[in-house]
Amino acid sequence: MTQVTARPRVVIVGAGFGGLWAARGLARSGADVILIDRNNYHTFLPLLYQVAASELSASDIAFPIRSLLRHMPNVHFLMAQVEAIKPEASIVQTTVGEIPYDFLVLAVGSIAHFFGIIGAGEHAYPLKTIADANALRNHILSCFESAAHESDAHKREQILTFVIVGGGPTGVEFAGALSELIHGPLYQDYYALDLREVRIVLLEAIDHLLNTLPTKLGDYAFKRLKKMGVQVHLGAAVSKISSDAVQLQDGTTIPSGTVIWTAGVQGAADSEWGLPTTKNGQIAVLPTLQVPNYPHIYVIGDLARLEQNGERLPMLAPVAMQAGTAAAQNITRELRNQSQLPFVYHDRGTLATIGRNAAVADIWGHAFTGFFAWLIWLTIHIYNLMSMRNRLIVLISWAWDYFFFERGVRLILANPPPQPHEFESSLHEIKE
Ligand SMILES: Cc1cc2nc3c(=O)[nH]c(=O)nc-3n(C[C@H](O)[C@H](O)[C@H](O)COP(=O)(O)OP(=O)(O)OC[C@H]3O[C@@H](n4cnc5c(N)ncnc54)[C@H](O)[C@@H]3O)c2cc1C
Repeated sequence: MTQVTARPRVVIVGAGFGGLWAARGLARSGADVILIDRNNYHTFLPLLYQVAASELSASDIAFPIRSLLRHMPNVHFLMAQVEAIKPEASIVQTTVGEIPYDFLVLAVGSIAHFFGIIGAGEHAYPLKTIADANALRNHILSCFESAAHESDAHKREQILTFVIVGGGPTGVEFAGALSELIHGPLYQDYYALDLREVRIVLLEAIDHLLNTLPTKLGDYAFKRLKKMGVQVHLGAAVSKISSDAVQLQDGTTIPSGTVIWTAGVQGAADSEWGLPTTKNGQIAVLPTLQVPNYPHIYVIGDLARLEQNGERLPMLAPVAMQAGTAAAQNITRELRNQSQLPFVYHDRGTLATIGRNAAVADIWGHAFTGFFAWLIWLTIHIYNLMSMRNRLIVLISWAWDYFFFERGVRLILANPPPQPHEFESSLHEIKE
């Protein structure tokens, strides 16, 4: 593994949107490329919430990395976790050994950021990986199984209260998907339960939803979610999360055993890497995507901190993909003794869906809502999935759900399954 070939070696860490697009850009570049990821699959994160909401299964949105690289003979995959980087020695330390590099592209993405809220890291469910989405789906379905034989009405109410923290796109999309899961398939499955006892609560600390989009779109999402039975609380900042309740800064306590955290993310940089890391775990880069003083290290995607026109680039898939392509171009230019070019992000718009026939879209400065925005959302997501197989399966799953209000992935696959006692509450301790 440590053997250095005559050809320059580019090591890419992370096979997410950024890393994969960098690898594609370096195919047939004349360099040997090693793409490292701790998983052997790439995850299409924009549809992750649908795995948690029983709409899609993990294999519908994940793709084996090796199959994506099949037609790139100079790109090799290594499944390993990167543990350390030694920039002075140009070496990446992984769980399977040290790998020297001539150029390094770091694209390890982001992790959940809990803003130091007490109990959030221990008790809230993040939604960042396939494992997170599966764990959340198992838990939600187990809540319904527990509620089905719980005779105490207070406990049942607590078990059936689902609190989503964060009114950004992921929180809004998940709230809508959960409402449709409960009012569609679960309503039919648990006919003995009074589903009026179910509460979906969406908490947003500021005074509107979808704060990176035009206000009109946030207002539309607010009204639509309310119509779908979601209790949306604006200006509701969380102060503490425990195993059985969420506390707000204004003193309100919401009894709940399920808190889903979509409120914040931070770069996944490790302070031990010896690279200049910002407070929110990103690495500040030059416009060329190189790390200052380390011209052979490029950082892209959620991990990179870069400003354009006075604003920080958002943590979004198109930013990562475009930066991946730009980093590959700059490395290729350097191999040809050409100078690097600054990365310019082209913003083609932002979308979020709320439920059937309802989405918001901000495209080229135009704001759309409703059925038209939903059609755009559907088309773009299907188009961007990685393989024909996944496109077909996702399309069939969506069509089935649309016409028959039926979701196929209502499976509790936890091992061992969650036990009813895990939902025992200490309601008597909670001051309403
Ligand atoms: C639930 C959810 C919904 C989203 N929805 C949208 C959306 O609708 N539209 C949009 O534009 N963006 C969306 N995003 C954001 C978008 O997915 C990210 O901006 C994008 O994935 C960033 O790409 P990346 O390459 O930087 O990181 P990622 O795509 O996260 O890839 C990082 C890769 O690095 C690997 N990795 C991490 N650490 C290590 C390590 N130490 N060693 C080896 N491998 C490692 C991971 O396994 C992963 O494969 C969403 C994100 C989430 C979590």
